Amino acid sequence: MPVLVFLEHHEGELQKGALGVLAKAGSLGDAEVAGALVGSGVKALASGAGKYGAAKVYVADDPALEAPLPQPTVDALEQIVRAGGFDTVLFANSVLAADVAAALAARLDAGLNWDLTDLAADDGRLIGKRPALEDSVLVEVGWSSETRLALFRSGSFDPSETGGEAEVEEVAVELQDFSGLARMLEQAHEESSGPSIEEADVIVAGGRGLGQPESFKLCEDLAAALGGAVAATRAVVDAGWYPYSAQVGQTGRTVSPKLYVACGISGAIQHKVGMQGSSVIVAINKDPNAPIFEFCDLGVVGDVHQIVPKLTELVRARKGS
Ligand SMILES: Cc1cc2nc3c(=O)[nH]c(=O)nc-3n(C[C@H](O)[C@H](O)[C@H](O)COP(=O)(O)OP(=O)(O)OC[C@H]3O[C@@H](n4cnc5c(N)ncnc54)[C@H](O)[C@@H]3O)c2cc1C
Repeated sequence: MPVLVFLEHHEGELQKGALGVLAKAGSLGDAEVAGALVGSGVKALASGAGKYGAAKVYVADDPALEAPLPQPTVDALEQIVRAGGFDTVLFANSVLAADVAAALAARLDAGLNWDLTDLAADDGRLIGKRPALEDSVLVEVGWSSETRLALFRSGSFDPSETGGEAEVEEVAVELQDFSGLARMLEQAHEESSGPSIEEADVIVAGGRGLGQPESFKLCEDLAAALGGAVAATRAVVDAGWYPYSAQVGQTGRTVSPKLYVACGISGAIQHKVGMQGSSVIVAINKDPNAPIFEFCDLGVVGDVHQIVPKLTELVRARKGS
């Protein structure tokens, strides 16, 4: 069962989501796992993939592949899949990966299961798990096509280093005529000082209990003291208190940090599904009957406006900053 994992990278770093999928692929019994790196000046990243379980990394390194555009990436992956005889191609969800996975499925006439949160191998068959009915149940899904494509929710798997080394094979990609029709004119970066919520080990999340948008400063200060990122519930995003890119939950991002501090968040199921994979959940809520206390590891009943600044002070004092 040769498995290929799309190794998305950004600013010279392999994405945590892709490394998590790589680690998952390596855990699927005796599957031969390879990675595909597509871009310009990316060869040096291949050794990093070896540490997370890729036995081989196919590198399509070409100035024509510099921009993270779907069609040239699909050209490269199609070539790698056909030449390597891969029957399974796995992706960690992102804007680019979702486009690439859908287009590759069309090119290969393959089935694509998306929004998966897990994958298991059973006697040569692959079984995917996908949340359904507003994430209240998990359904098992399979593939009827010979080539199987899967797109995983971000944060589904923890990247765990296995310490291996990858053989590197360079691939000369022939681009389709139409693949050069779209050009990247500009790439803009959202200004942010800390890690993204998908990458962060610590997340401080704010909800309606903060009372007003200005109070997000409490979460930002605590996140900065802990070296983490700030997230938000849909209620506050919809109210325009915080950007959508920070929303965690069913219609936002799925995160799995080591520590998730929920400040003034009730713990609705639609929020829970996006953060329940966190290793330790701490909740601060003034209502002792708030649903979040049913699934957090440590609950503090109290006012966020009093507790969060004290917590920040303590963390700063411990760190001596
Ligand atoms: C289809 C659908 C998709 C959705 N997708 C998402 C999603 O992706 N993400 C998401 O988050 N939600 C989502 N929701 C919304 C979800 O159902 C909840 O409405 C939302 O999560 C509630 O956000 P909240 O906890 O900030 O607000 P609330 O539910 O209003 O909770 C605020 C909490 O703050 C506490 N509080 C108030 N004042 C203080 C204080 N001073 N100190 C401490 N605690 C205080 C209250 O006791 C309360 O528990 C979705 C809903 C639907 C129907």
